[in-house]
Amino acid sequence: MAPLTMQAARFHAAKDLRVEQVELPPLAAGEVRVKVAYAGICGSDLHEYATGPFTCTCAPHALTGQALPMTLGHEFSGTIEELGEGVNSERLKVGAKVCIEPVISCLECRPCLEGNRPLCEKGIGFLGYNRPGGLAPYTNVPQANLHVVPDHVELDVAALAEPLSVAWHAVSCSQIKPGETALVIGAGPIGALVTRVLKAKGASYVVVSEPTATRGAIATACGADLVLNPLETDVVKAVREATKGGVDVAIDCAGNQRTFDAACGATRAKARIVMVALWDTDKRAALDFSNILFGEKIVTASCCFLGQDMQEVVAALANGLIKVDDLITSRIALKDIVAKGLHALVEEQHHVKILVDMQQ
Ligand SMILES: [Zn+2]
Ligand SMILES: [Zn+2]
Repeated sequence: MAPLTMQAARFHAAKDLRVEQVELPPLAAGEVRVKVAYAGICGSDLHEYATGPFTCTCAPHALTGQALPMTLGHEFSGTIEELGEGVNSERLKVGAKVCIEPVISCLECRPCLEGNRPLCEKGIGFLGYNRPGGLAPYTNVPQANLHVVPDHVELDVAALAEPLSVAWHAVSCSQIKPGETALVIGAGPIGALVTRVLKAKGASYVVVSEPTATRGAIATACGADLVLNPLETDVVKAVREATKGGVDVAIDCAGNQRTFDAACGATRAKARIVMVALWDTDKRAALDFSNILFGEKIVTASCCFLGQDMQEVVAALANGLIKVDDLITSRIALKDIVAKGLHALVEEQHHVKILVDMQQ
C-alpha cells in the first residue's frame, strides 16, 4: 500500500528545488499509480533549475491545470502499484514494470490524431513539469503515458528509455539506412545516445565532433569510429576526407550557427541534416542555400519522440540490440539531488546519466 504522504523533489523557482513532504494525490479515473524505481536527471531539468521556470508554469497549465511548485522527473521507471477506474487491465497489470512517455497533448488536433503528439497545435505539456513527475516514490500517470517493460529488463536501464527514445526519434528523422555514414555534433547525453543508436541501426561509420576529451571518450565508448575536436581540427574538411566526400546524415545535438554550418558542410549530396538541440526562440540561423540546393539536402528537426519510438526502444533494450547500463554514471538518494545530482552534472563532465534511486 502506498503511504498517505511522501518526500518529493519540488521545483519552486530558479535555484530553489526542495525535497519536502507532500500528500499522495488521489488516483483519478484513467490513471495508474506507479511505484517509482529510478528517475534520471536531464539537461532540461538543469536548465529549469538554473534559470527557470521555462517548462513549468506559474499559472495553471492549459492542459493539466497545475502550476508551481512542481515535482520534477520525466525520465523514470517503476512498477504498477494500483489501477484507477477504467484503466485497461489487460495491458497494464499490478506489479508490471513500466517506463514513461512524458508528453501530454490535447489529443484532438490534427497532429495529435495523426499520432504526432509532440507536434500538438495547442502546445504540449510534460509529466515532471506540468503535472507531478517521478522524483517521488509514487506518482500517478495517465494510462496512455505508460509503456510496459519486459520483466528481464532491469529498472535502472528502463529509466533510460526516455532519453534513449529522444535519440531514437532523431535517428529515425534522419532516415539513415544500414551502411550509411553519419556525423554527430556534440557528445553530451543525447549526442552519446544518438551515436549508440546510429551504430545499432547499422551506420557503417560515425564521426563525432566534441570539444572536450572526457565527452570524446564517452563518444568512443558509444561506438564512434572517429572523434574530432572542433577547437583543433577543421571538422568539415576532416569528415569529407574520412568519408570521401561527406556523410549521409548529420545530427546536430549542439545547436548553434557554427555547428549547423559544420553539419551542412560535412554532408554529401542527398544528405539529411537533423537539428535536435533547442534554439532560443529569438535566434535565427543563416543557411548556405547553395550548399543545400546543389546537394538536394534535407534540413529537418526532431522534437521529443512518439509512442512508437519508445516501443522500439523497449524492444531494443529487451533483445540486447542496444545497451545503456554503462552510461549510468551515478546513483544517488533523493535527499542528495541538488549536490550530487544537479551540481554534479554541471561540475563533473564524466557524467552521462545520474539516476535517483527512489526506493533508497
Ligand atoms: Zn529529459
Ligand atoms: Zn493536439
